[in-house]
Amino acid sequence: ASSKIGFIGLGNMGGPMAANLVKAGHEVRGFDLSQASLDSARADGVTIASSAAEAVKEADAVVTMLPAGAHVLKVWSELASLVPDGTLLIDSSTIDVDSARKAHDIAAARKLAAVDAPVSGGVGGAKAGTLTFMVGGTGEAFARAEPLLNVMGKRVVHCGTAGAGQAAKICNNMILGISMVGVCEAFALGEKLGLSQQALYDVASTSSGQCWSLTSYCPVPGPVPTSPANNDYKPGFAAALMLKDLKLAQAAANAVGANTPLGAEAAQLYSLFDGLGHGIEDFSAIIRLLRGKH
Ligand code: NAD
Repeated sequence: ASSKIGFIGLGNMGGPMAANLVKAGHEVRGFDLSQASLDSARADGVTIASSAAEAVKEADAVVTMLPAGAHVLKVWSELASLVPDGTLLIDSSTIDVDSARKAHDIAAARKLAAVDAPVSGGVGGAKAGTLTFMVGGTGEAFARAEPLLNVMGKRVVHCGTAGAGQAAKICNNMILGISMVGVCEAFALGEKLGLSQQALYDVASTSSGQCWSLTSYCPVPGPVPTSPANNDYKPGFAAALMLKDLKLAQAAANAVGANTPLGAEAAQLYSLFDGLGHGIEDFSAIIRLLRGKH
């Protein structure tokens, strides 16, 4: 059935996600602070509202896709008092677990159903409608969100109660950051030992060193033709976004007293790399830092 959807945050991810909802026959009213985002969303068939309040006032569901926790709490606080009773709130931004739980509290105070539903798959996945959604919230809220999320993604996983989606996202991306650094260190060491990159790839990709950072996203050009290393490290997944997610993982680890020494080290390395001006490159470009040539 066609729904009325308010969509706040029409940037690199939110724009194409909203476009997929339009294509599926939903009536989408969108709002963003940036004129460029509004213009491209309008071209994709999104009805542009003059404010967030205007976008959500008759909505069956609202999706937010914003930079960070502070933006989400500000927007949800404002819209919670404006949406009709029974509206479902979906936040797909990547934010800290603490803010995600506060957002659920805002919704609960108005008896609105809510889910945290961050994504993996990047801008390519957002455009193709192949994102993975990691969802936190009650079973009832999940059941209502699932059909809409299926329009924007190909996998929707109910991870648990409030905040569980964000928890799954930062744990996954902590594995990714650590494993990428590990793969880059191995290539940098192999080079100094006179080992060819292809030989290391052929062995590790079929041995116990096998992982996504190696076989889908190989940080040296050649072995995996589709990896950003073959395209001068254009993202892909920007190093600055990896740093953001590693910092969220560290904040969460500190809050609950979890021991994550390699996550902390990966955050330090990406912070150094970003500080040297490489934040806009793909995160696999960190091999340059580890080679000591950047
Ligand atoms: P983006 O900066 O392109 O888009 C964010 C949009 O939010 C911007 O257009 C901005 O103008 C808008 N915005 C900010 N405050 C607003 C407000 N108060 N009201 C209305 N609009 C507002 O960022 P993005 O790449 O689309 O990422 C969005 C979220 O998705 C982030 O949390 C990011 O970490 C996460 N994410 C991004 C990727 C990726 O590859 N880009 C992948 C997975 C998750």
